Amino acid sequence: MKALVKALPEKGIWLEEVNEPVCADDHVVIQIEKTAICGTDMHIYHWDEWAQKTIPVPMVVGHEFYGKIVTLGRAVSGLKLGQRVSGEGHLVCGICRFCRTGQGHLCPQTKGVGVNRSGAFAQFLSIPACNVVTLPDDLKDDYAAILDPLGNATHCVLTYDVLGEDVLITGAGPIGMMAVAVARHCGARRIVITDVNPFRLNLALQMGADRAVNVLHDDLPSVMKDLAIDGFSVGLEMSGQPKALNQLIQAMGHGGGVALLGIPPNHTAIEWHQVIFKCLRIQGIYGRKMYSTWYKMMAMLQSGLNLDPIITHHIDVQDFALGFQTMDSGESGKVILDWSKL
Ligand code: NAD
Ligand code: ZN
Repeated sequence: MKALVKALPEKGIWLEEVNEPVCADDHVVIQIEKTAICGTDMHIYHWDEWAQKTIPVPMVVGHEFYGKIVTLGRAVSGLKLGQRVSGEGHLVCGICRFCRTGQGHLCPQTKGVGVNRSGAFAQFLSIPACNVVTLPDDLKDDYAAILDPLGNATHCVLTYDVLGEDVLITGAGPIGMMAVAVARHCGARRIVITDVNPFRLNLALQMGADRAVNVLHDDLPSVMKDLAIDGFSVGLEMSGQPKALNQLIQAMGHGGGVALLGIPPNHTAIEWHQVIFKCLRIQGIYGRKMYSTWYKMMAMLQSGLNLDPIITHHIDVQDFALGFQTMDSGESGKVILDWSKL
């Protein structure tokens, strides 16, 4: 089969012929129809320090996918051939105290599809049947391909009660933009988002933000004054930038809740006095809850959550290099790769 492979320990991704996956008894094989490029794939593409430490070479990459079941392992029940599916890309041990108490997202033995083991940028993907998520007929293929990052955004937004609250999101990457739509859907009062990229800030407005603040030119405190916000009650850090994290902590109101999804450099400093004297709560966010986040996001999509503005590019997988360049340019939302014409 054809797959996008991290074939060499240097910058790049290569479309190569690799063996089809073998279907273990408790696995299913999915024929991939559409995938989407994630920021993580960009780290792997650029072969940065994190990727060098984390990614085995050679390995098929990718973890945002949608497809149809083509093989069922002998021990699998409850799923059907031809079913439209996506899946949870974190494979957990199933037997630790977290897994056994319904908190698989905390499993210390987690393995990531396309990060620690063979991924979804391929004609076929094999994953455990328990990771498969079946899709409602009315869910668009494009949305089905981006449920993984939507899950990150949903898990992060749902950390705190946003109904009637003012929400600040720092970072209008794909996940930040989706978080805008989710927070709107969940009844937030005001939603302010920051970034340094005008293209993405414009998309964030289309996703429902009240204000999109370019921190290179605009003053966040003035915007807050304009909207009569003394301090935000919910802050979602989605840029991974130390400056943005500090700006967010500064803009929080007393007793506010901060959720950290962006990954800042180790040893990033923050003003701890702000955290302590404002009695802030801070929650780290990784992945999504298995599987409550999936049910919540499916319910939101079936009740009108609109992600259309951020799906900016459709590219045939043969032109994958263009897809990675487009992501790199910053002038994109989600880039969808189509595998159906191979
Ligand atoms: P991304 O990394 O492209 O988005 C980051 C955005 O932050 C960009 O649009 C960038 O222009 C913006 N930015 C840069 N400087 C800024 C500043 N000073 N203020 C505000 N914004 C600024 O894409 P993403 O896929 O949306 O990922 C967001 C973050 O979440 C990244 O750090 C990523 O590594 C991380 N991530 C975490 C998880 C998790 O499970 N915790 C999962 C996926 C991604
Ligand atoms: Zn576990």
